[in-house]
Amino acid sequence: MNEFRYQPLYDQWVVIAPNRVRKPSSKTEQPPQTQINDPFMTGFESKTPSEIYAIRENPSIAASWKTRVFPNKFPLLALETPPVLSMNGVYSSIGGFGAHEMVIDQQKPNKHLCLFSAEEFKNLMLTFRDRFSALYQDQRIASVMAFKNQGAKAGNHIRHSHSQIVALPFIAPNLAKQIETSREHYNRVGRCLLCDQIAGEEDEKLRVLVRGRYFIAFAPFAPRYEFETWIAPIVHNGAFTQLTKDALNDLGETLEWCASRLGIAMENPDINLTLFAEPPKRDHRKADYFHHIDRFFHWHIELLPRSRASDGFELSSGCLINPIAPEVYASYLKEIVV
Ligand SMILES: [Zn+2]
Repeated sequence: MNEFRYQPLYDQWVVIAPNRVRKPSSKTEQPPQTQINDPFMTGFESKTPSEIYAIRENPSIAASWKTRVFPNKFPLLALETPPVLSMNGVYSSIGGFGAHEMVIDQQKPNKHLCLFSAEEFKNLMLTFRDRFSALYQDQRIASVMAFKNQGAKAGNHIRHSHSQIVALPFIAPNLAKQIETSREHYNRVGRCLLCDQIAGEEDEKLRVLVRGRYFIAFAPFAPRYEFETWIAPIVHNGAFTQLTKDALNDLGETLEWCASRLGIAMENPDINLTLFAEPPKRDHRKADYFHHIDRFFHWHIELLPRSRASDGFELSSGCLINPIAPEVYASYLKEIVV
């Protein structure tokens, strides 16, 4: 049984997953993709675990899906595992409770993220929105994350295009960090931190990539990765799960603008797409944890190209090295004509 264990020195949770299936270490170890060994192809719907959610062109035709969601066959976490906290001296652990869902986001087996159309991005975001809303109904779930790993350097070892959704019994550490830094900023100046970043980017214009009706894409001031790109609602918005149809259309177009140019600039790189959405407002060990969170938490998406592995300096210092300034790659991306 998998479990979460807490490392107090780093204030960090890790998942101990001894039964996790060992994955091939390189692309060359994978067998060639064919219909026979790809259970995620259209027409093979009965080969996957039971479907939880789908977007279909025609609801009465099983094979007309645009996205399909089902439980991961090799889950990191399971809803059946009780989320019981154990403490032993300085050590804490929790049973591996949670949800781990696969989102098949393409009928085509090998379509690269950078080649997704605006419609395909929109369907992926709609799927995330609906699954987040459904998972938030489970009172035991404290946060949900969604991500897409494209390529081996981004942690992907399944060739058929897919994304993943993971629900946790605590607020995921990266999300918790964003909530804390945003809260500190709000308490100090009375404004949302990401709103202030966006206002600064719009004033300076150096790192803004594209501005739609609802969303802005920009190269962050301190990118951790080459060509790192953030996409966020222009007007303060702390509720990804309330995303409207119009906003979804604009989000799909903004994602396509960014991904297509990253694909040209970096020749379809290995890349992570990750979504940071508001957690459900449950009881928390800190009584006022969610006080005013709607005012200071601003959801967003990050596109993180992964061109290389971390080196020793980065691992030991926690300080990442980026060889290209965001002003430089923002200017370069804007010159690309798709
Ligand atoms: Zn904001």
